[in-house]
Amino acid sequence: MSITRAAFESILREYNDKRLRAERALAERKAEIYSRLPEVEQINGRIASLSVDTAIARINGAGADLDSYRRQIEELSARKQQLLSSAGYQPSDLEPHYECRLCNDTGYIGDEMCSCFKKRIREVLYDQSNIGRVLDQENFSTFSFKYYPDEPDSQNNPLQAAKHAARVAVDFINNFDARHDNLLICGETGVGKSFLANCIAKELIDRGYFVIYLSAVKLFDILGDAVFGSDRADSDQILKQIMKCDLLIIDDLGTELVNSFTTTQLFNCINERLLADKSTIISSNLSLEQLQNNYSERIFSRLVNRYTIIKLYGKDIRMIKKLEG
Ligand SMILES: [Zn+2]
Repeated sequence: MSITRAAFESILREYNDKRLRAERALAERKAEIYSRLPEVEQINGRIASLSVDTAIARINGAGADLDSYRRQIEELSARKQQLLSSAGYQPSDLEPHYECRLCNDTGYIGDEMCSCFKKRIREVLYDQSNIGRVLDQENFSTFSFKYYPDEPDSQNNPLQAAKHAARVAVDFINNFDARHDNLLICGETGVGKSFLANCIAKELIDRGYFVIYLSAVKLFDILGDAVFGSDRADSDQILKQIMKCDLLIIDDLGTELVNSFTTTQLFNCINERLLADKSTIISSNLSLEQLQNNYSERIFSRLVNRYTIIKLYGKDIRMIKKLEG
């Protein structure tokens, strides 16, 4: 498994944001505390100055002074704690609250990656891993029309539909930055919906985009964890990636358990990405009519109005391939 540069940089940015958030929150708490308790600010100034004195005394070997400085700092600290707690503050309120105490949200301890950072990379790789494994086999160089029979008399000629789908896909890729288009790939099981989505993913990953591929079932697991899970900070981070990645692929929509919770979550996901000009590809076994019945009207209208709809027809290609052996 390998991580793309874009994905790695996105994790670095995430850590940077975390640190900035902690520092900004600290500055706000500090400002509030200092305005309510001006003496605390004076004490902090006094302690800082005594710390410098201590350093100088240590260099100059002035042992007697060291004792006196230490006692003064202790007294000032005690007074500060007293002031803080009488006003309802914790001593830690004057420290930054980092998520990870090991690396202070830098991701590194010295030159070593922190365990939290490694965990984060594994999570991102996990998101990509489904796709990483299949992309060697499923890309435009292996895409073949031979599985789509030419049925000129049929209203849904599989070959024509597949050729049209391939054209739309190439168009989608070539105008990825300019258009922020979205695709809804419909068709029965085995007609190559995921294959087509994977072709697009491979092409975009190769061009340096950050792509996340999730089955609908997995997506709703993650969305559920973000709301009900025990490790919410964690799933919150994953959720952010899902909302922010360049391309999100939701595979096999309709296989998950549908309820009002998943419907709301799905709408938020689709809508937020639309608002942020981020492209999404959804594949589904369901017909448009079934999509309309299974999901809310506002989801359906987003799909119909903001997604390019691709339909694939034909026999179950996986079965054909198995028979070909
Ligand atoms: Zn850490």
